[in-house]
Amino acid sequence: MKVKSAAKINLMLDILKKLDNGYHSLFMIMQSVDLYDTVSVEKNDEDKIIIKCDTDGVPCNEKNIAYKCAVAFFDALSITERGITIEIEKAIPMAAGIAGGSADGAAVLYCLNKIYNTNLSIKELCEIGAKVGADIPFSLVGGTAIALGTGTIIASVKDLPECYIVLCKPEQDVSTPEAYAEFDSLNRVRHLDRILMVDAVADGDYEKICKLCGNVFEQAVEVPKRPHIKGVMRKCGADACVMSGSGPTVYGIFSNKENAEDAYNKLSKKYDNVYLCKPAKHGITEV
Ligand code: ATP
Repeated sequence: MKVKSAAKINLMLDILKKLDNGYHSLFMIMQSVDLYDTVSVEKNDEDKIIIKCDTDGVPCNEKNIAYKCAVAFFDALSITERGITIEIEKAIPMAAGIAGGSADGAAVLYCLNKIYNTNLSIKELCEIGAKVGADIPFSLVGGTAIALGTGTIIASVKDLPECYIVLCKPEQDVSTPEAYAEFDSLNRVRHLDRILMVDAVADGDYEKICKLCGNVFEQAVEVPKRPHIKGVMRKCGADACVMSGSGPTVYGIFSNKENAEDAYNKLSKKYDNVYLCKPAKHGITEV
């Protein structure tokens, strides 16, 4: 079985508090974009989970998020016949804040549910995925959604109106646990206007959404190239420029295709990982 699984950006990411279990309570507005990893899953006769990936640096062992999701699925359903081969073709850059690993994990949960005829609902798959990572439930649902708690509470909202999203990942990897540690050490946090944002996404109001986009990780995670990337995007007419997730990827939202292409071309001259995307309506699509 083969699927493509979408990257995401955070139109808003606010951190409400640190929980006793060490996790954080989040408020996120999530948006899928049409940048996809392709994941195929099939049964094998070797009685073990085998991971293959076309990209250096992605762990092809039990550390892979796809592997962890497979184990979580088998454990949740007490399945002992665990011989599967997972092949991942990566297009989503790693450690970029756009849920590359989570997309692969979500894809595996989706495929295993079909291959093993377990008929779990998306909600049940989300519960299993949430045990592995906060972005996995959203990666299963996709589209435009509000995500709360540790990412497990998902409410889908109106699709973002048609627009163009330029992603630019500077040459820097951000570790998500380190980003949270930096955030926890801040003395003061400027929180975001969450209520107005809920109103804006409920209405699907492009202008209001763009005005309210924001990410509190920008207060904690240093990305030296961020001002430059934002400057280029703004000069090209971006309606919003914000870092996604724990970074370092910065996205710009454009209502106009030519402006988005202009930003894409200018940034591509300086950075290796630049993408011109559109909002996607689904997290996972069978291919
Ligand atoms: P998020 O936005 O969900 O925080 P991210 O985009 O910042 O995620 P990932 O691409 O998921 O980060 O990768 C984070 C780390 O996880 C990588 O450094 C890599 O070592 C490890 N990893 C495990 N499985 C995968 C996978 N399938 N694809 C990419 N990275 C993976």
